Amino acid sequence: MTGNSNDRRKYGLIGHPLKHSLSPYIHDHIMRKCGIKGSYKLLDIPTDEFDDHVLKVTECLDGYNITIPYKERIIPYLNKLEGHAGKYSTVNTVIEAKGFSSDIEALLQSEIPYKGNNILILGAGGAARAVLAAALISGCRSAGVWSRRTEQSAGLIEEFRRLHPNAIIFQEDTINTDTKSTNLYSCDKAFYDVIVNATPAGMWPECGIPPVSRELILNSVYVYDTIYNPLATRLVLCARSYGIRAESGLDMLVRQAVVSQKIWDPKADLSLFSPLKLQQRVKYMMFNLFPIKIVLTGFMGCGKTVTGKALASVLKIPFTDLDEVIIERTGMTITDFFAENGEETFRDIESENLKEVMRKEGSIVIATGGGTLMRDQNVETVRSNRGFIFFLDAEPEISIKRTENDTLRPLLKNRTSEEIRELYSQRLPAYIRASDHIIDSSGSVTDSVNRIKAALGLSDALHT
Ligand code: NAP
Repeated sequence: MTGNSNDRRKYGLIGHPLKHSLSPYIHDHIMRKCGIKGSYKLLDIPTDEFDDHVLKVTECLDGYNITIPYKERIIPYLNKLEGHAGKYSTVNTVIEAKGFSSDIEALLQSEIPYKGNNILILGAGGAARAVLAAALISGCRSAGVWSRRTEQSAGLIEEFRRLHPNAIIFQEDTINTDTKSTNLYSCDKAFYDVIVNATPAGMWPECGIPPVSRELILNSVYVYDTIYNPLATRLVLCARSYGIRAESGLDMLVRQAVVSQKIWDPKADLSLFSPLKLQQRVKYMMFNLFPIKIVLTGFMGCGKTVTGKALASVLKIPFTDLDEVIIERTGMTITDFFAENGEETFRDIESENLKEVMRKEGSIVIATGGGTLMRDQNVETVRSNRGFIFFLDAEPEISIKRTENDTLRPLLKNRTSEEIRELYSQRLPAYIRASDHIIDSSGSVTDSVNRIKAALGLSDALHT
């Protein structure tokens, strides 16, 4: 690496594949805010070309990051490993042939409460290595490592036991390897204070995979998902639904970018920019970069349509009301369609239309009918199309009041309050089962919108 004679600094990210990387945006933003003149480029090197090309690609750079799958493979090309990079054999930041681990640094700076806690780490690759290192450095009580290939976690544990002979590090059992439809790790009896997902399970576009069971999440106090796309994974949404603190990997991505930039430009004043504001900016960009469907479900009168419209407007993405789509397609009101064709035929039409809406390009907010997600096949349609289900739950009394003058809902017509309450209780378990996040929608529309935004990790004040 020779550096540049002109005053524009050249940085880059080496890895493969790099298509969806947010790093150029993050570093350009940091450099602009802090007065560093420079550029940051993606430098994709196919795995079979790495050894032939890596030195040539890096020689004209002033500094670079290195990512999957080269965090260990770069080491023979470096003269020195600094700090944690040497001890834990992982490098993701380089300057003048010296390697650093800004990942470990970022995880040490994060709010993960390692000290004195029992930590479950899912995965045994590069991210898991950094998490395990940060947990042990910070004095965790114990660390359980789970991976679908047991030999991978066994190898990582053996290496770390040599580095930390007094630490309690053990292998978690492989309980469930059906990664398509169920949890990766589903031991209901385990208790972990902190759960960290360091696998790509749940990552866009395969957002439907929840890495652990709800029971495990409920028994924890803090959840961290190293995944940053989508902006909130099912794991993070589930934890937040139960009031458990949870953070997505964007926090780690931005923190490690700041650490890298400080290594490359030690004289720059990095306090000139706000990592939190940058995170918020990136989260709003995610709706375009990694489109998701925000699907609202709940009993009649819970506020799906009004909340959906307001939410879509705040997020600047389109809104669709599934009932409206069906009315347009059939040319009939839902009540008339029910009366003429019966509920079963209506449900079939509803399933077909849901599929169509879910397959649309781009992010969208969708208000479903009160009974749509009672069908498992519809939940599956949502899950397999990057959909996240928010259950808007209002007291049945509130729903009854909100819908008392509504003549367009076939299931409310001719029902007493008692019967409506009964229908609510019948449906409640299915709503809970289907949902990724539950919000209390008994209050105002603004309250409901703010609750959904909070679940997604979005904050208004910082949306500039
Ligand atoms: P890696 O080195 O390839 O390791 C991935 C680990 O996850 C391996 O143990 C792998 O096991 C396992 N895995 C992969 N797919 C799985 C699945 N469907 N179910 C269960 N286990 C699975 O990758 P990495 O660098 O550690 O990255 C892992 C995750 O961390 C990624 O989602 C990445 O986005 C995230 N990450 C985030 C940041 C950040 O700054 N936020 C930084 C680094 C990484 P197998 O070998 O059996 O596939």
